[in-house]
Amino acid sequence: MDTLIAYFERIPSLHRSLILVGGITFFWVLEGAIPLFRFKYGKWRHALPNFFFTLTTVIVNFALAFLLLGTADWTVAHDFGIINWLPEMPLWAYVVLGVMLLDLVGAYFAHWVEHKVKPLWMVHLVHHTDHNVDTTTANRHHPLESMIRFVFTLTGVFVIGTPIGIVMLYQSLSLVATQFGHANIKLPKKVDDLLSWVIVSPDMHKVHHHYKLPYTDSNYGNIFSVWDRLFGTYMKLDRQQIVYGVDTFPDEVENASIKGLLRQPFHKYRKPTGYEKVESLSVD
Ligand SMILES: [Zn+2]
Repeated sequence: MDTLIAYFERIPSLHRSLILVGGITFFWVLEGAIPLFRFKYGKWRHALPNFFFTLTTVIVNFALAFLLLGTADWTVAHDFGIINWLPEMPLWAYVVLGVMLLDLVGAYFAHWVEHKVKPLWMVHLVHHTDHNVDTTTANRHHPLESMIRFVFTLTGVFVIGTPIGIVMLYQSLSLVATQFGHANIKLPKKVDDLLSWVIVSPDMHKVHHHYKLPYTDSNYGNIFSVWDRLFGTYMKLDRQQIVYGVDTFPDEVENASIKGLLRQPFHKYRKPTGYEKVESLSVD
């Protein structure tokens, strides 16, 4: 555990890039082998805007990384933050708790707020207007959303008091988890169900990408599924009933154009078209 944290404390940018590119490549190949939906799309054409927004996300995070490092170092130096105020515990427990709490504040809570506060929803919308969710959708975030998420992560690091080694471990796990959750792959139903008791499984996250409420406002989780189960935001919907996108922004041309997506948050807010609960077909 010591060596693991020591590694993440100094993880080179090259290794972080390798995780990003390696993860996308791995799930991209897997999508060819066990696809969930057989999209009739040009995979590269579809990936283009998503890669653009992944790049802007990387740039925003890289530019602001010094704030994360400064805050993490400050909490350690001042013995500040929740995990430092708790009684002494073994290192593994300290790391697991740190990663879980960062997932709660920096991801689950951030995501929930983005769905509940209208101007933030307009920014987060860009992530949801993908009509063909696959592993490249994972980091399709408007640059403004990358900044909003950064602020939540920074607040999390400060309140929780996580050393930079844990922050970097969390960010690496978070990256792979989100690529996995968005991947257009079909795991055996039982395996997916079982996984969804611990981490956000592909089927679980796809429900969140259904085009209508109440499903869009469910399954906010990032790495761990426990937060949705604990806070009552967990929902199920059969795979074959899921329709990707957002009911109020159905323009497929705008939703696939970098220019259109950059401008998307500045549209006027549009009221959801309705609240439609789908009867379960309860077949695979
Ligand atoms: Zn969302």
